[in-house]
Amino acid sequence: MRKKVIIIGSGLGGLSSGVFLAKAGYDVTILEQSSRVGGCLQCFTRKGVKFETGMHFIGSAEKGQTLNNLINALEINDKIQLSRLNTDGYDVISLWGNKYKFANGREAFIEQMAEYFPHQRQNLESYWTLVESVANSSSVHTLQFNKGKSATEIEYQMRSIDEVIDNVVTDPQLAEVLVGNLPLYAGEKGKTPFSTHAFIMDFYNQSSFRIVGGSDYIAKALQEVVEKYGGQVCLRKKVDKIVCNNTHATGVVCTDGSSYPADIIISSTHPLRTLEMLGDTPLIRHAYRQRLKSMTQTIGGFALYLHFKEDKVPYMNYNYYAYTQESPWNCESYTWDNWPKGYLYMHFCHEPSPKFAKAGVVLSYMKMEDVKQWEGTETGKRGSSYEDFKKRHAERLIESLEKEFPGISENIAAYYTSTPLTYVDYTGTEDGSIYGIAKDVSKGAGGRVSHRTRIPNLLFTGQNVNSHGMLGTLVGTVITCSEIIGEQKLYDYIANPLDNTLG
Ligand SMILES: Cc1cc2nc3c(=O)[nH]c(=O)nc-3n(C[C@H](O)[C@H](O)[C@H](O)COP(=O)(O)OP(=O)(O)OC[C@H]3O[C@@H](n4cnc5c(N)ncnc54)[C@H](O)[C@@H]3O)c2cc1C
Repeated sequence: MRKKVIIIGSGLGGLSSGVFLAKAGYDVTILEQSSRVGGCLQCFTRKGVKFETGMHFIGSAEKGQTLNNLINALEINDKIQLSRLNTDGYDVISLWGNKYKFANGREAFIEQMAEYFPHQRQNLESYWTLVESVANSSSVHTLQFNKGKSATEIEYQMRSIDEVIDNVVTDPQLAEVLVGNLPLYAGEKGKTPFSTHAFIMDFYNQSSFRIVGGSDYIAKALQEVVEKYGGQVCLRKKVDKIVCNNTHATGVVCTDGSSYPADIIISSTHPLRTLEMLGDTPLIRHAYRQRLKSMTQTIGGFALYLHFKEDKVPYMNYNYYAYTQESPWNCESYTWDNWPKGYLYMHFCHEPSPKFAKAGVVLSYMKMEDVKQWEGTETGKRGSSYEDFKKRHAERLIESLEKEFPGISENIAAYYTSTPLTYVDYTGTEDGSIYGIAKDVSKGAGGRVSHRTRIPNLLFTGQNVNSHGMLGTLVGTVITCSEIIGEQKLYDYIANPLDNTLG
């Protein structure tokens, strides 16, 4: 008899785990609370225009690169279409009235930065060597089977980004520019490990792409593969309880009363949501609950979705990071008077190489406490005070954007917004946190969520296991599925899916 695996949540973590396990012969059922698959891989359409909510661009997707190997192994490479961002500047940082471009590839990146900071060429070489050595030090990121963590990986999980960069580059302005894309990981000064920065820099520097048509194509493609291998994805199934006996978990019960027995349960929801599902089972000790509860979350976000007038706004084939203060750091500490301290502006790629953008998004930070008074209300029914709040913030963001892109506001046909409450409703993330649990150098390994729980047949997957993002989440999937399928077997399969099987 095939072992029954129940996966809670159909975001990237849940779906990709479902693919590997269904391919390995497990009887997979994915339960999703929403009426759509995808979690953060979701888009919405208003007045015929599609908007991306949570996966705007991906990296390392060129043949032979890590993400490409993973999407090959997941069998979705020919089901999605990618559109390459400008290789001479996939990220553009706007600081002090200047624009700084991040170019793809080690040499091009250093060349480009050295044009802005000629006296720092040597330090840029050292910085990039460090980024590469940290990114390559993790066997899960390079997908090269090798047990244990390397000393480099451990060291740079315990040193903060600013501390390391300040040691390598001597020009304080360059140190700020190098963290110009902080919103990609909600990095915090003195807190976020350099390893997080290194993985993100390396990931996008290898190659950067938008997903043509939207990231929901990834979710649909993964669902198809799960189903191809005999698995099923059930929508509108909100898991309410994980049922346990004296030794292990036996199944789950949904809010509609339906129940699903299981040999193995994998939760891709935020660990605090999973704790709630576990109720007061004695299998989970107080100290473990407290440790999970004490972890801090990355900040929440306010998103402004822009619907542009037709053929007015030239498509921007790069991501644009702007700051209304002197530094990319500390944008999470703001008041209404100085909000937004920074934001990330991107266009959606509705077709390959578009000439004009139909839609874009401006993402900035927002704390849960700003919207706390509307907590517990339902999306679309939060009342006029909430609508006024969103309007005020949208107008402030448009004002900021207008300073960087004069005339842009005249080309906006309509806009829509979301707050941390929206993410709580749509994904169950704690406090509307953008990227889940925050990494913190001061907490070391104690600040990380293991894929193993205290219950032998209950595992975590998703962005909180390893890291957020397309690669971070898929690496989490590999860690979790290795536990079930076997590490060597899964790594061999990913390295060469044609010559190896998972079954
Ligand atoms: C605004 C934003 C922008 C981003 N941009 C990028 C980007 O450009 N590039 C990139 O690589 N990454 C980006 N990310 C990160 C990336 O999208 C996520 O890290 C990743 O998609 C997380 O996947 P997940 O499966 O861990 O979680 P989720 O996508 O949150 O999935 C969890 C799923 O569990 C379901 N669920 C929750 N509770 C229950 C329950 N009780 N029962 C059943 N189902 C339940 C939810 O409905 C959801 O579908 C972005 C994220 C955000 C929020």
